[in-house]
Amino acid sequence: MGKRYYCAYCDRSFKDDPEARKRHLSSLQHAKNHVDHYNMYKDPDIILKEERAKTPCKRYLTIGDCAFGLGCKFSHYTPQMLWELQYYVDMKNASKLRVVPENGWPNPDDIIKEYFENTESSNNMEEPNYPTWFKPLEVHDYSMLPPSLWPITPESLPDNLTFNKWV
Ligand SMILES: [Zn+2]
Ligand SMILES: [Zn+2]
Repeated sequence: MGKRYYCAYCDRSFKDDPEARKRHLSSLQHAKNHVDHYNMYKDPDIILKEERAKTPCKRYLTIGDCAFGLGCKFSHYTPQMLWELQYYVDMKNASKLRVVPENGWPNPDDIIKEYFENTESSNNMEEPNYPTWFKPLEVHDYSMLPPSLWPITPESLPDNLTFNKWV
């Protein structure tokens, strides 16, 4: 029987070899247990700040073994674990920022109702003044106007003209 490696964070042991330790320390389960362990005592924001300020523990992060264990003055957090902790802290802060307005969130039904009420009231307004075609006085007696300057009247439109489709 070979030596067994015991992980205090995960409360589990496995066959002790550098490969297995490395694999275990980079596992998500270990990262989670590690974070959870400290969360029992401290705010994740504080842990993050503290661990970032520490020098990584070479022994722990390369061979997964550090005699100082939880009391080590170097950081036992891998970059991945720090990243996850950062993510967790960001999520926590984001939920704090979601402040509800003083009168609560407006009811979506009210917004829709208000929108349609506004549309109705704008229908009661006077018809806007559309510009109308008029023949400039200067050309009133001029008989050679190009077609583009002819006045548009219902009579001037060709009989077969339809507005069903714009081509
Ligand atoms: Zn572990
Ligand atoms: Zn250490």
